Amino acid sequence: MAKIIDGKKISAEIKEELKQEVAKFKEQGKEAALAVIQVGNDPASSVYVRNKKRACEYIGIGSLSYELPEETSEEELLKLIADLNAKQEVSGILVQLPLPSHMDEDKVIRAIDPAKDVDGFHPQNVGALVIGQKGFVSCTPAGIIELLKRSGVEIAGKHCVVIGRSNIVGKPMALLMLRENATVTVTHSKTQNLKEICKQADILIVAIGKKEFITADYIKEGAAVIDVGIHRDENNKLSGDVKFDEAEPLASAITPVPGGVGPMTIAMLMNNCVETMRRDA
Ligand code: NAP
Repeated sequence: MAKIIDGKKISAEIKEELKQEVAKFKEQGKEAALAVIQVGNDPASSVYVRNKKRACEYIGIGSLSYELPEETSEEELLKLIADLNAKQEVSGILVQLPLPSHMDEDKVIRAIDPAKDVDGFHPQNVGALVIGQKGFVSCTPAGIIELLKRSGVEIAGKHCVVIGRSNIVGKPMALLMLRENATVTVTHSKTQNLKEICKQADILIVAIGKKEFITADYIKEGAAVIDVGIHRDENNKLSGDVKFDEAEPLASAITPVPGGVGPMTIAMLMNNCVETMRRDA
């Protein structure tokens, strides 16, 4: 029987800690505010934006939302980002992705001041992670490190297999596990013998984006299994990239979907926002 890693509980603990930290900073006269820009009205994005706003309110920092129509030009968006970069009272800027197809996401991300890039997607922050310097780290992988640490899963010296190499999950995840002294293998769609490689993992982190792809044959007995995937069926029921019922009896610890990795992303976004207050301490 695996230990179920409760992301909901851990994210609530983190937000509570951040709330207390923010209150102390406020006593010293420090403020922080997150600006969230949404272009178009994709319903899933609107839910994420609302939740981010709520989390800001909960921990006690300001939030500004900019809801731009779908037909906004890239130039207008870049102008807004430049204005927010210049505003001292805005400490974090987040552009909700995906953007409409007439916009170049890379160009938009590069326009954000790296010191305000609380999503950690700017090439300067990604580069800082690669060479082990300080910078904002992408929230989902940072949340997974917190889940492992706070659940007592030992990382140093362990073999971690990451499935997926996306810029927002797989790659930063592999770098963070390396920073934590794991021995890291990164796998992707061209990997041969995926099952055999996964079976060697002490910690298996799955960000493949394919519903319940990982079955019992991919899991070594006693492994910790982290499921990043989110899939919603026609009845709004959520499932992950891992077949939970098959993995759970083999694993020593496992994240459920929902309630595992998902809630950590916002908690770590809030941590990055508070980091802007710590930085000036
Ligand atoms: P992505 O950009 O689609 O990347 C998927 C990765 O999986 C790619 O690197 C791909 O390899 C690899 N892959 C695909 N098929 C494979 C196969 N058969 N064998 C081995 N590797 C394979 O997805 P993502 O953005 O990283 O997200 C992954 C999942 O996490 C999605 O379900 C997403 O919804 C979820 N997610 C959750 C959160 C959260 O807060 N919990 C945050 C972000 C994402 P190639 O590079 O070779 O194509």
